[in-house]
Parts: sequence; C-alpha cells; structure tokens
Amino acid sequence: MTRADEKASIDPNDAAAHSRSWIGRVPVSAFERLSPLIGKPDAEVEVELTFEPDANGTVRVSGVASVNAILECHRCLEDVSQEIVAELDLRLTSSEDKLKELMPALDVMVIDVGLIPIVAIVEDDLIMSIPARACTTELNCPNAPRELASSTSVSEDDSSRPFAGLQTLKNSNKEEC
Ligand SMILES: [Zn+2]
Repeated sequence: MTRADEKASIDPNDAAAHSRSWIGRVPVSAFERLSPLIGKPDAEVEVELTFEPDANGTVRVSGVASVNAILECHRCLEDVSQEIVAELDLRLTSSEDKLKELMPALDVMVIDVGLIPIVAIVEDDLIMSIPARACTTELNCPNAPRELASSTSVSEDDSSRPFAGLQTLKNSNKEEC
C-alpha cells in the first residue's frame, strides 16, 4: 500500500470514464474540519472509492472511508476508541443545474472540473458518521450509573428533556450513553 498522501487527488470525470477506483490513505491532518473532532492527530483515513458514470450525466462515487478516532463520552468523560466508518454513495457534477435537479433524491456535490482532493469527497460523510454519543449503550459506559446517581445538576442537554433522567433509569439498556 502506498504511503498516506495529504494531497491525494483525483479527476472524477476521468476516473469514471475508465471505471477506476482510488484506494489509499490520507492523513487526518489534511482534513481541516474532521481532524479536530477525532482526538487523534496522527490517524490516517483509509479510503476506497469507485468512480463510474451515472445515467443522469453525473459521476457516481461509492465506497467507504474510515478512521480510528478517540471520542470523549459526554456522560462518563472517558475517552472511547471507536472506528468511524462512512459509507459513501454520492454524485459529483460541475453543474449547479444538475444539483437542483437531483437533490434531494440523490446526494449530489458540485465540484470544479479537473483534479479535486480526496479530502473534499469524503470529509462531509465522515463528519456525519461520527456518533453523537461515544459510549453506544449504557452497558458500554462503565461510569454512567454512578455518574447518574451522584449528579445533582441538570446538564444543558437534559434540561430540554425533563424526564430524560427518569427514562434512563427505567430503560437502562435503551438509553444511549
Ligand atoms: Zn460513557
């Protein structure tokens, strides 16, 4: 496998014309918005993308991007190691008209003609794939019950859901941590 390349880029139209794939790694430091969110400055994003022409005149990009992140659970404040995986299926076009025509039925991104960074293709989907809560279930959160019991203050998040704490006690397996 090639080394992680922060400037990795591709011409989607050319790649689609030859039904090419792009498989490689991009250092997370190349992702301006993603990198502060994942708590691991030296992580590498693994990318596997396939480009093909779509019948509607756009380029279809499908594949997967993943990165190992360290997320802080907002309840137990523990760092939780978690792999963020984004499944991609989007259409690239340089036409604003196509965007209006195909959204929101399809996920469309307007791009410049020529080479575009791999970062630009996968960053949004990766950010959207970051789970809102780091501990996925109450059972995964070792500190949740103790934290809940000793907590006397109402957090900002819970104030909009006055019975959130009660629900948590009732459905201790359902409530996400
Ligand atoms: Zn937790």
